[in-house]
Amino acid sequence: MYAVGVECSRCGRTYSPDALLTVCGECGGALLFRYDLARFADEFSLKDAERREDTFWKFIELLPLSSPKSVISLGEPYTPLLKLPEDFSKPFRNLYVKDDGRLPTGTFKARGMSVAVSKLKELGVKRVAIPSAGNAAAALSAYGMKAGIEVYAFMPRDVPENILKECAFLGAKVYLVDGLINDAAAIVGRLSKKYSWFDVSTNKQPYRFEGYKAMAFELTEQFHWDPPDLIFFPTGGGEGVIGLWKGFKELTELGWVDKTPRLVVVQSSGCAPFVEAYKRGETEIKEPWENAETIAAGLRVPKPYASYLTLKAVEETSGMAVAVDDEEILSSMKSLFRLGIYACPEAAATLAALNKVYEEGELDGDEKTLLYLTGNAMKYFDILEMEKRVLPILDRNVDSLPDH
Ligand SMILES: [Zn+2]
Repeated sequence: MYAVGVECSRCGRTYSPDALLTVCGECGGALLFRYDLARFADEFSLKDAERREDTFWKFIELLPLSSPKSVISLGEPYTPLLKLPEDFSKPFRNLYVKDDGRLPTGTFKARGMSVAVSKLKELGVKRVAIPSAGNAAAALSAYGMKAGIEVYAFMPRDVPENILKECAFLGAKVYLVDGLINDAAAIVGRLSKKYSWFDVSTNKQPYRFEGYKAMAFELTEQFHWDPPDLIFFPTGGGEGVIGLWKGFKELTELGWVDKTPRLVVVQSSGCAPFVEAYKRGETEIKEPWENAETIAAGLRVPKPYASYLTLKAVEETSGMAVAVDDEEILSSMKSLFRLGIYACPEAAATLAALNKVYEEGELDGDEKTLLYLTGNAMKYFDILEMEKRVLPILDRNVDSLPDH
């Protein structure tokens, strides 16, 4: 394989790719895998890629595993890239969605966790812990179960109940925390040594980024190596945006693309620390967002770890950060339903954000634009209110239908 080292994204200190790693021991910065891309470009061509099956593991040489035998898989397909009707969101005639709701456990978190669990299993880890707004814990529970690794999940007590059940039925030890993900993270950090957990927290280990990096490779291939101008990405902790940014850097270095999409961080106005920092021109989120509240549970991350990396990704790609209201999220969710697309609230926020950015005059509508749908609506049907009494109830002997 081609991993040659792991580098601190803040101070540049390097680590062995075969060590069990969390954050930089020197400065606490997030760690990123480095590969011998020149050698890979020499030895592998796009023709080789075409001959391989369209799965998440297609470019496995650029993942941190020592051997393909280490893969822990639940069946990760290329997820569909769909072009939306030209009149769906005027004037955007070149509008696409990529639907990661089709991945195992129904969200893009499967990408990060499949790589992380595969690598941790390879390194002999037996027990992992995660603070989560919900979906990351579900994905970790599933892959942990498959790998035979014990999973301890710590989530806010008001996490969507479906996700809670999912983790419990997947065999995780689930704990509810009277607080938000930051509070859960503090508990995991404090007790990790005592209970011998490896902490798989967002941005506090280098493995999950690599799974998200694969999004850049996959979607670019689906666009026939001509990536979109913009990618709108729902952002809680920021690991998806960091993964895309890293992926496009590697694709550029390989000479496989000659442009990088502008990365647009999408948040809920009920918890928008990245948007606030972006507007103020800051390079890091300094204070946690107070009273974080949104129906998009995955976006409720008041103070993400290593926030400087996400903001750097936005800056380097001439991206943006935009917040939308829960009402706009719900109405976007319903608009996508009318196309038969099951977007979770986090994912639907990207459509609301597109409209908002356009109204603010930031785009002219000609851009080839991708809305990244990070998860499946099915996990969230309970937030869509529809009173039963609005549906007619039929007598068993009915011979004509009431107005409806
Ligand atoms: Zn460092």
